[in-house]
Amino acid sequence: MALINPESLQHTAPLFAVVAAGAALLEFLLRRFVTRQGYDSHAALASLGVAAGQIVSNGLSGLAIGALFGAVYALTPLRLPVDAWWSWALLFVAVEFLYYWQHRLSHEVYWLWATHSVHHTPEELTFPAASRLGWTGLISGLWVFFVPAVALGWRPEAVAAVLALNLRFQYFLHTELVGRLGPLEGVLNTPSAHRVHHASNPIYIDRNFGGVLLIFDRLFGTYQAERRDEACRYGLTEAVKSHNPFVIATAEWVRLLKAMTRAGSPGRALRIAAGYPGRRPNARPAPGPSEARYPPNRAA
Ligand SMILES: [Zn+2]
Ligand SMILES: [Zn+2]
Repeated sequence: MALINPESLQHTAPLFAVVAAGAALLEFLLRRFVTRQGYDSHAALASLGVAAGQIVSNGLSGLAIGALFGAVYALTPLRLPVDAWWSWALLFVAVEFLYYWQHRLSHEVYWLWATHSVHHTPEELTFPAASRLGWTGLISGLWVFFVPAVALGWRPEAVAAVLALNLRFQYFLHTELVGRLGPLEGVLNTPSAHRVHHASNPIYIDRNFGGVLLIFDRLFGTYQAERRDEACRYGLTEAVKSHNPFVIATAEWVRLLKAMTRAGSPGRALRIAAGYPGRRPNARPAPGPSEARYPPNRAA
């Protein structure tokens, strides 16, 4: 008997949706009437539109990815149990490790960034922003990163279940209402750490790639704590100024394909696709008031 039944995870999806919607409503009321930070309802609605498209694209691409993972599982001679706690604990760490590299390379390789950048388009960090996820993971090949877990002998359903729990956990990180969480910072992924991940300030960019844990960020040198003297500026350095879900989901692909077609040769076009995203052509964004007020390397 499996300790975590992948099918039962699907049954908890409506409960997750209700809790997520409740958190989003509470956040809306608090931001509007208590903290008076304001709330961009158009951006939140755009996020829900992107989420709807992602559910459709996930449903379609899930069939292809499920078949591929099934084939890998049929081919590998290895088997890991679903009825042993140590196997689930190992799978959790393995998925966390694979997720770290998938996420990090999604920031460092333009072909992957074309899909992942959708998640970084919101310029206000609220719960609905968490649901802005790219529609083109199948094309970018984001699923490839989890093939090793299946090849090692974990059932594809078990890998998918652990990844789904990881992503559900991350939904609750997308808020400004929770401050720093003391000793948990730098160990667990927290709202503070994820605010840093979504910020495009030069000291925050490409930091904190972990899902539930930040241990791999600590290990591979990509951890950055939120600083009191450096307020996060969210969004892309080259903003997508649209609330149309189709524009949001395809904007970075349009930029990438334009750059590839202008490259002059197939080799150069491939190097652009495999290279660092050209999302900061004008180098640093304009310095904000916090940078003018404090020296750049002042400790937090
Ligand atoms: Zn990211
Ligand atoms: Zn996020």
